[in-house]
Amino acid sequence: MKEEKVKRIYVDNAATTAMSKRAIKAALPYMQEVYGNPSSLHTVGQVAKEALEAARARIALRLNCDPREVYFTSGGSEADNQAIRSAAENGAKRGKKHIISTAFEHHAVLHTLKKLERDGFTVTYLPVGKAGIVKAEQVEDAIRPDTALVTVMFANNEIGTVQPIAEIGAVCKAKGVPFHTDAVQAVGHVPVDVKGMNIDMLSLSAHKFHGPKGVGALYCRRGLILNNLVEGGAQERGKRAGTENLPWIVAMAEALDEACESMDKVAKKERRLVNRLIDGLSKIPHSVLNGDRENRLPSIVNMCFEGIEGEGLLLHLDDRGICASSGSACTSGSLDPSHVLLSLGLPHEVAHGSLRLSLSEKTTDADVDVILKAVPEVVAYLRNMSPVWEALEKGEKPHLL
Ligand SMILES: *Cc1c(COP(=O)(O)O)cnc(C)c1O
Repeated sequence: MKEEKVKRIYVDNAATTAMSKRAIKAALPYMQEVYGNPSSLHTVGQVAKEALEAARARIALRLNCDPREVYFTSGGSEADNQAIRSAAENGAKRGKKHIISTAFEHHAVLHTLKKLERDGFTVTYLPVGKAGIVKAEQVEDAIRPDTALVTVMFANNEIGTVQPIAEIGAVCKAKGVPFHTDAVQAVGHVPVDVKGMNIDMLSLSAHKFHGPKGVGALYCRRGLILNNLVEGGAQERGKRAGTENLPWIVAMAEALDEACESMDKVAKKERRLVNRLIDGLSKIPHSVLNGDRENRLPSIVNMCFEGIEGEGLLLHLDDRGICASSGSACTSGSLDPSHVLLSLGLPHEVAHGSLRLSLSEKTTDADVDVILKAVPEVVAYLRNMSPVWEALEKGEKPHLL
């Protein structure tokens, strides 16, 4: 491995987090001592089965549901795929082939919906406005007699805005339409209560709250039919075949407990640091904070700086030891601007110059000081070299920000 000379400041926690010590420690016995298959009838298997069900109960407690409503998956993407496909299939059986979602969902949702559109479903993508928030009234107005599903993310992974999930849940309940939410960025970070918020299906992923990658869960309310995506054995009450990844499932339960126990304290700290970042970076001329300032996760800041390319900014920041992102890990490598930023109504040119900083409880004031010094310097440097910026400064083109 390359020798690390500079201290790394990791502010890309919306892409993934480091596993917590508690989660790692919790997983270890399930790789060594308790290695049984939970489906085996002998003692080694039954001990594993008990641990599996204990983890399920802990997660159910945190979501406020019955353990029988929690299905383990390989992560957020699989949970999103299963929830949406299942609701679509069951809707279609009753002649319902309309789905409501938003323009700025994660690709695990959007690409599943695109596929359903090719299979004859109609999808309404609600606009999220400049604030990056969809209103419950928009959902209500879009519901039709043939609506099979409403799927709206809990918190956006690029800009961090939190949606009025309880209000949307109430609307869907009143209209009798199943409601799924991709809560991958929310669980472990902000309070989530599936019963209190009238959520019918919810996706979560352990690696977004300091658990391991490759494990997640789907909550599906009892009474709602859930179809399986993976065929095979009878694991997860027949809804998700495959031998359960017990070490990771136990680690996920531990990480979620830890995240929920420290949620208020961590959120308070992150919110203070995020406010410092927003205030400091907003001083850069021709910049904008993306998404509503109030209704947001405590840990995510996303800003655009006119006249620069986000990619150049990231590389220069990486040279200075700052690991950030331009938005989504999924769009990096593609030249298209983020669909999330475009959904806010930002022009293409501006959407290209984005920076997402996503904090964790490990982020310090000293880290924020380094970022607040580095970003304005790199932005100024890149603008200095940019012909686009020169044209803007000469007044040949109007500033968009
Ligand atoms: C990370 C993420 C996913 C995908 O979860 P994986 O466990 O990586 O498959 C889905 N939705 C949102 C909002 C995410 O942030």
